[in-house]
Amino acid sequence: MTIALTPAERAQLTDLSARYKESRGTDHELDQASENLYWSLFRLREIELLCTAPTPACCEAARTHPAILYDIASSVNAPGEDPGRWYLATHSKHTQARASFRSGGWIECRWAEVEPPSPKFCPYCGAALPAMRLKDPLPRNICNSGGEDWCETCDSRLRDCLCDLPWSAFEPEPG
Ligand SMILES: [Zn+2]
Ligand SMILES: [Zn+2]
Repeated sequence: MTIALTPAERAQLTDLSARYKESRGTDHELDQASENLYWSLFRLREIELLCTAPTPACCEAARTHPAILYDIASSVNAPGEDPGRWYLATHSKHTQARASFRSGGWIECRWAEVEPPSPKFCPYCGAALPAMRLKDPLPRNICNSGGEDWCETCDSRLRDCLCDLPWSAFEPEPG
């Protein structure tokens, strides 16, 4: 199932995000209701982002029940610095670590060294996983932090970043 913000929610999130960043630490902080709304929309955006993971397109099950996702190493977070590879979705610490990193949480620092084995075929239909490549040109709205706590694309802390995830930079090789 794919979860996405409505156009109205997206506009509201963009607006609240700008106001929240501007007002934090000043005398004009957001009122509690606006801040709560901001965070609930931000969480929705995070779920939306998880739903954008590239999955194999070999069969309907692979798309509707993602078991395998294409991503880059959790310690990189910059498209182009890592060729990316397929990960088992059951290895959910990978996405959890990235999600908590993006929202300002602490990641076990040894985690980045533990790269799980890469799957080779679709568990539903047995098809080999497609070769993937970086999109050319790269989409503009992709989070790029190089593993630091700052997104170069939107020029803000990762906890405020609303950009697409680096895995959005990948597509199947044609042919
Ligand atoms: Zn399949
Ligand atoms: Zn960003």
